[in-house]
Amino acid sequence: DASHELRTPITAILGQAELALSRPRTPDAYQESLHRIEDEAQRMQRLVGRMLTLARAEGGQQVLEFVPTDTVALLRTLTETLSAQHEGAGISFVLDLPADLTIVTDADCLTQILLNLLENAVAYAGDGAVDVALQVEGAGVRIQVSDSGPGIDPASLPHIFEPFYRVDPSRQRQSGGVGLGLALAHELAGLLGGRLEAANRAEGGAQFTLHLPLKPPAGASAAPGI
Ligand code: ADP
Repeated sequence: DASHELRTPITAILGQAELALSRPRTPDAYQESLHRIEDEAQRMQRLVGRMLTLARAEGGQQVLEFVPTDTVALLRTLTETLSAQHEGAGISFVLDLPADLTIVTDADCLTQILLNLLENAVAYAGDGAVDVALQVEGAGVRIQVSDSGPGIDPASLPHIFEPFYRVDPSRQRQSGGVGLGLALAHELAGLLGGRLEAANRAEGGAQFTLHLPLKPPAGASAAPGI
């Protein structure tokens, strides 16, 4: 799967370079070629980065640092950043958060999981809404990211966390997705002692639920002093 995924951007980069070098061209044409090469190289960089993180997580080599993490502040920061990035796209975040909820977890891993869910939600919600809810449940928390997009085909739901799985390969390729985001988020949720679930809302749209413990699982490497 990985070599197949890498072949596409490499072919595109070589094609652009060969085209640009085939005869003298205007500065504009060179710029155009370089932009396309840059896009494809960035796609490759993302893919390789995610493959490395996934391999590390699966191989138990991900270094975790469990520290008190304010989940409310994290969700606010991430949604504000995404709002700013997608300003004018008509997307709106509807937050249902308590005043403050601190858990002991690895903040980097949690950020990666949430960013993934939020970016997907923004991509699929179109100009609709993304709901983000956080609640305490038993000895843990539940974070839900729901969108007003088309939802996930029920036949795809059982496969959605498999590496390189895409519901619609042709459409995803254009949007730059590599089908590793959810696989990585699912793996990282497990490392944090939690789990990630996917479903469709009755009223339409996808809903991802992340369950996390308030404290790290027994045996997880805690930061000094915790
Ligand atoms: P990618 O990096 O290609 O986006 P992901 O692992 O994030 O891959 O997602 C895997 C598949 O799940 C994709 O085919 C995508 O279409 C689908 N998917 C993810 N999030 C949503 C969502 N919020 N609504 C509908 N489909 C989604």
